[in-house]
Amino acid sequence: MPLYEYACAECGHRFEILQRIGEGADGLSCPQCDAAKLEKQYSTFASSSDGKASVPTAGGCGAGSGFT
Ligand SMILES: [Zn+2]
Repeated sequence: MPLYEYACAECGHRFEILQRIGEGADGLSCPQCDAAKLEKQYSTFASSSDGKASVPTAGGCGAGSGFT
């Protein structure tokens, strides 16, 4: 089962949950404030708004050092 990420519209709490494909937020509620207003977040790994973990920076695997 894929892992989906939801954000609570009330308190902004974000959490992940395992669901079947196509399953919605029905019956789910925020584990923090118990609100049922949840917004589905799409593929955290594909989002590049932060630039976090999307582009490997130099210094990680030795790329760019002593390449020639
Ligand atoms: Zn909440």
